[in-house]
Amino acid sequence: MKRILLVESNPQIGKGAVEKLEAKLKMPVVWTKTLSETDQLLSSEEDSSFFAAILNLVLPDAPNGEIIDRVAKNHIPVIVFTASVSNAIRKFIWSKKVVDYVVTDDPSYIDYLVQILNRLIANRKTKILLVDDSSFFRKILSELLDIHRYKIIATTQGEEALRALKQHPDIKLVITDYYMPGMNGYDLCQKIRETHKKEDLAIIGISSEGNSEMAARFIKSGANDFIVKQSFIMEEFYCRVTQCIENINLIQMTKETAIKDFLTNLYNRRYFFDQGKQSFITSLSKRHPMACAMLDIDHFKQVNDTHGHDTGDRVLQYLSTILLDFVDTWAEGMVARLGGEEFCILVQLKDKNANIEAAVIKGFNDLREKIQAGGIQLNTKRPLLKITMSMGISFNSHTTFDQMVKAADEQLYKAKENGRNQVVLTKR
Ligand code: GH3
Ligand code: MG
Ligand code: MG
Repeated sequence: MKRILLVESNPQIGKGAVEKLEAKLKMPVVWTKTLSETDQLLSSEEDSSFFAAILNLVLPDAPNGEIIDRVAKNHIPVIVFTASVSNAIRKFIWSKKVVDYVVTDDPSYIDYLVQILNRLIANRKTKILLVDDSSFFRKILSELLDIHRYKIIATTQGEEALRALKQHPDIKLVITDYYMPGMNGYDLCQKIRETHKKEDLAIIGISSEGNSEMAARFIKSGANDFIVKQSFIMEEFYCRVTQCIENINLIQMTKETAIKDFLTNLYNRRYFFDQGKQSFITSLSKRHPMACAMLDIDHFKQVNDTHGHDTGDRVLQYLSTILLDFVDTWAEGMVARLGGEEFCILVQLKDKNANIEAAVIKGFNDLREKIQAGGIQLNTKRPLLKITMSMGISFNSHTTFDQMVKAADEQLYKAKENGRNQVVLTKR
């Protein structure tokens, strides 16, 4: 497991930081107090397993930030602790290519530190596309982004960048130069915006010959921001990159919450009907069989009445993971919570020749038996809380999506009437 290294001679700051970091990040912290102690520790480690290091600039045996160079030798990302910041201190810190600095005089410094570390964790999965014909600047920018542990894809011109975007649909930010052979930065922005909206992908224009006109033209071409190559200092560069990426993440999170159910994290009713209709039309045009299963927990009211609403919620969450797992392993499809204790599963069956009805009956009966066999351990003294589900199934032999869903609902009603814990399906 990755650890965090803290080098801090002040016992109060050290103790507070260890406690809070371990609680908030769930990562163990190794705390040393001097340069020599740290040197011994790092020299004894074959392969450094430190995720990041937090280093105080002033230590008893290293009063002038000497600790930074020692730790940087082991390629660990560095965050600096400093009691105060003057221009000279800032200049010194940034010359050492650190991730960021934290002023320990600020009452909320631990929160800021946690924020930086969380970002470093997330950056490992954040892809940035660099477009610059100059190998010199590609190298400089790559190094800067690497300090923050971003995943970097470097390209030399527009066409290559557009191909990279197609190949990596999860790129969150494009940083593009203006002067390049072939397509210039403005043209590239416009081209990207034909397929990628501002809310899904950020663009920062960057050029050595920056002026306010260039900034305006970049932004009018679809960029989110602009930086002048020669004048930017590391701190400004990082602030702008971070801000662009955080905005994209925020929008994605908002979109995600709009389509997901809060309790179970399954898709919600609205998304189910929007997306389901699309899948239904596609399945008809491709002649892929599709099944729609309506599932309802049996006697769920009793669970709430006997064990309380919180236990009821746990049952809903527990079943959601089983249903998701079922769809992931058995077929291609979608699971949604339509409301209360009612779920719907849409599955597309790729194999046109298989006996679809038999496959569906077997698949859902296995699922039903798995749920019946399992249960929830409420506490060690009690037996498992047992759950069963009733299921009604229909196929895309109906003319509309709504009719298919209604037919599945009718079969579910029959399953309940016949005594629950069973699967009932329509003929195809
Ligand atoms: P049946 O076998 O006929 O489906 O009986 P049932 O008790 O499962 O069905 P009924 O419709 O009578 O009761 C459903 C219960 O589900 C009542 C409601 O309080 C509970 N419920 C709905 N949503 C939630 C929820 O989000 N959390 C919890 N804990 N309970 C919920
Ligand atoms: Mg250029
Ligand atoms: Mg029920």
